[in-house]
Amino acid sequence: MTTTKIAKVLLVEDEEQLLRVLGSTLAAAGYATTLAKTGAEAIACIANETFDVILLDLGLPDLDGKDVITQARATTRAPILVLSARASENEKIAALDRGANDYVAKPFGVGELLARVRVAVRPPFGAGAPGNYSSKNIEIDFRSRIAVVEGATKRLTARETELLRALADANGDIVSHEELVTRIWGVSGDADVMHLRVLAWQVRRKIEPDAAAPRYLISEQGLGYRLSA
Ligand code: CA
Repeated sequence: MTTTKIAKVLLVEDEEQLLRVLGSTLAAAGYATTLAKTGAEAIACIANETFDVILLDLGLPDLDGKDVITQARATTRAPILVLSARASENEKIAALDRGANDYVAKPFGVGELLARVRVAVRPPFGAGAPGNYSSKNIEIDFRSRIAVVEGATKRLTARETELLRALADANGDIVSHEELVTRIWGVSGDADVMHLRVLAWQVRRKIEPDAAAPRYLISEQGLGYRLSA
């Protein structure tokens, strides 16, 4: 379906351990990751290279992260995702006003961060974004929320569509329960894995010839779901 290109991530974080853990998590998720430990390093990286997303800690030893955002915005339109323990609303507003796109408060789960990164690098809806998925037996039009399964047309709800889109984006890889819940219901929602199971069941009743023996929407016990072509 989509042509897959490796997204380039710049991770700016002065805490050595967090930098290492997040850096290897992002690399394991398939991102080309560049690490920077100071604001000056970050600005130099941004001047020399093009990134698809920038993850920026606000509390850096040499510069205020907000000033890094201002300087970055002079040269790049890449989404900037702020990572910070500063929970005050004013700090968030200031970071967003300077040109950050989103905000993740520390401590955050790795699943949540990866979900935010995926959203950040995903092309905007309607701007050349792939609006369709097609495999041998299934065609899905995400914009009109229609699935055609073995010739039969099924209407999907918004959440059913989002579940299928998240799985289609992963190109057959498993997407974790946590990531799916975050993507479908949002970070601050009350939904959990049970909601996801109910939603997956609904989708199966629409797209599977036998919902009890799924062929397309596959559950990987304890891990998540994947879409089998
Ligand atoms: Ca810091």
